[in-house]
Amino acid sequence: MFIHDFDGLVIKSEETKMTVVEENDDLVTIRVSSGMVWHDLVMTCLKNNWGGIENLSLIPGTVGAAPIQNIGAYGIEVKDVIVRVDGMMLNTGEEQSIKAADCKFSYRESIFKHELKEFFFISSVTLRLTKKKHKINSNYDALKARLAQLNIISPTIHDVSRTVIEIRQSKLPDPVMIGNAGSFFKNPVITINQLEKLKKDWPTIPFYPFENQLVKIPAGWLIETCGWKGKRVGLVGVHEHQALVIVNYSQASGKEIFQLSEQILNDVEEKFELKLMREVNMID
Ligand SMILES: Cc1cc2nc3c(=O)[nH]c(=O)nc-3n(C[C@H](O)[C@H](O)[C@H](O)COP(=O)(O)OP(=O)(O)OC[C@H]3O[C@@H](n4cnc5c(N)ncnc54)[C@H](O)[C@@H]3O)c2cc1C
Repeated sequence: MFIHDFDGLVIKSEETKMTVVEENDDLVTIRVSSGMVWHDLVMTCLKNNWGGIENLSLIPGTVGAAPIQNIGAYGIEVKDVIVRVDGMMLNTGEEQSIKAADCKFSYRESIFKHELKEFFFISSVTLRLTKKKHKINSNYDALKARLAQLNIISPTIHDVSRTVIEIRQSKLPDPVMIGNAGSFFKNPVITINQLEKLKKDWPTIPFYPFENQLVKIPAGWLIETCGWKGKRVGLVGVHEHQALVIVNYSQASGKEIFQLSEQILNDVEEKFELKLMREVNMID
């Protein structure tokens, strides 16, 4: 299991075009080819003073991959700005344009990870962004704290992007320097009742309000509390600054990474009776 190269067809989008499809004084709608590097798009938007994706600065990967897991960071998700996703059904060759409302977006989820998994090639993503009166989202704890430290009281989209980049660079390992897939696990979403039960044993457990009376528990805190932060097992380990990230120090196989993730899952389940879910795709 997980010890051989992927045996199948890989299609990689190389197109990097960006077209303005609609514009008025307040809003701009752009269609972006799936091969564009996500962060390059964020930087292009900032250069044009278009707001909406500044909190998603420096997320590795392409525009085409962004809707797959509805990338999110620092209080926003890409679903907040997506208008439609265009592409082709790989089994029939039929072109389809899927409206955001039909993409079944939720936390790290979309139709592309379920019904359309491996069937739909995304050729472009259409986003609607603000040209003025930007909706600044600086409420995420780490972002708010750093902006306050920097004495930035009314941040611009540029301040938000710069600060997000600074925080990410200080906390997350650069995949070019050390192998990693970013957050390996999703933050578990639980009911208020479950939270109240957990608080009895763990009064300082952090949580964030989620939708429908549910709360999100930071998986990094759970993993750190189990003593995994900075721990190394052979060629793999848990990153020293961010317990959500599993790192490959050298030439570790998929099997070693999977086994470490299993140990972490088991420890968290034993301690908190919570089941962590992997955010990454596991390919056998
Ligand atoms: C250091 C680090 C930090 C990260 N931080 C975050 C974060 O803050 N928030 C977050 O949400 N994610 C984060 N990630 C995860 C990652 O950046 C995203 O999942 C990103 O969208 C992956 O892009 P990719 O182009 O590398 O896609 P891949 O990993 O190559 O593919 C991901 C999935 O999308 C599918 N896919 C890709 N392109 C297409 C296409 N054109 N059509 C159809 N299917 C396609 C693939 O088949 C695969 O199933 C992080 C990763 C790293 C390494």
